[in-house]
Amino acid sequence: MKKTIYMDYSATTPVLKEVVEEMMPYFTEFYGNPASIYSLSNESKMAIDEAKITVSKIINCKPYEIFFTSGGSEGDSWAIIGSAFANRDKGKHIITTAIEHHAVLNSCKFLEGEGFEVTYLNVDSNGLVSIEELKKNIRKDTILVSIMMANNEIGTIEPVKEIGDYLKGKNIIFHTDAVQAAGHVKIDVDQINADLLSLAAHKFYGPKGIGILYIRKGTKVSNIIYGGGQQRGRRGGTENVPAIVGAAKALKIVSDDIEKENTRQENLRNLFVEKALELPYVKLNGILNEKRLSNNINLCFNGKDGEGILFNLDMNGICASAGSACQAGAMEASHVLTAIGLSKEEARSSIRFTIGRFTTEEEILYVVDKLKELTS
Ligand SMILES: *Cc1c(COP(=O)(O)O)cnc(C)c1O
Repeated sequence: MKKTIYMDYSATTPVLKEVVEEMMPYFTEFYGNPASIYSLSNESKMAIDEAKITVSKIINCKPYEIFFTSGGSEGDSWAIIGSAFANRDKGKHIITTAIEHHAVLNSCKFLEGEGFEVTYLNVDSNGLVSIEELKKNIRKDTILVSIMMANNEIGTIEPVKEIGDYLKGKNIIFHTDAVQAAGHVKIDVDQINADLLSLAAHKFYGPKGIGILYIRKGTKVSNIIYGGGQQRGRRGGTENVPAIVGAAKALKIVSDDIEKENTRQENLRNLFVEKALELPYVKLNGILNEKRLSNNINLCFNGKDGEGILFNLDMNGICASAGSACQAGAMEASHVLTAIGLSKEEARSSIRFTIGRFTTEEEILYVVDKLKELTS
């Protein structure tokens, strides 16, 4: 079998060996239901408590403000739908951006059907949200602002601290989707004044199907998953103990060497971009400075078919992703790339490469060489 070169770390990441090791005993040895009363269950209960402490120290909150979900999509849905429903007596207006993940956009679409009004802020050609635009769109009945910390397609890091500062004391809930930021941007919920923040473990070398939602004490959020009284009565369902243990361990690992890894990946990213731009028909989508995630490269191959390039990359063992998404069998141009001003054709000619902890310089050079060969 030919070697795989994985450059799609923003789609998902491999689970680190240390994470798997930490999880294993909770499948076979400490399998007790954390809600049960016998001693076997204490191990599960303690593991969940430990995980909350670990996560809360990293994102600077209290352990009881941490809730475990089934992933980023549930965290976003819960934060947005839950807070909208719980605050509908105060107003019906929500502000988000045009470049959010579909978990956010489709939660907003659902709420529009329920009588809420949603403003989708435009972004500039680099994908940045403007505070001035936000200010202009705030209404008396605005109850929620949901703006992502970092974009999954072009890696733009949004000015969440400025947004949080502005919203402070305004009685408007601030949610941020930090799924792509984790492990790349230091997350401090107090510093950015976030009330709700969602994370997904599989984007930072933890298992799939487990996420974290931070809910600031006092924030009114309705339940969206009903069941027993788990998680202090706010999310029904037996906790996925091994996954919770894995999520906390993975977040700890990526947070411990965040600076070192960021510098390393940034150098590799810059090398990739520099070499790729030697091709006359290649253009970088987004910016190349500290406002871009250190692992994101998004290139437009003008006049070429992105899908075709991806297919040929795959034939060479290289995993990357398209500037378009297959929706209901038709190729839709990416809503993010069109929002930053690309035409549908340009969006369809774009490819995202996202690197990670296991990416080497050798791989970067190999992929750029292959790209030159496949597209010229
Ligand atoms: C991946 C992703 C999600 C969804 O997370 P899942 O765990 O796959 O449900 C949400 N938001 C962003 C920005 C993402 O990149």
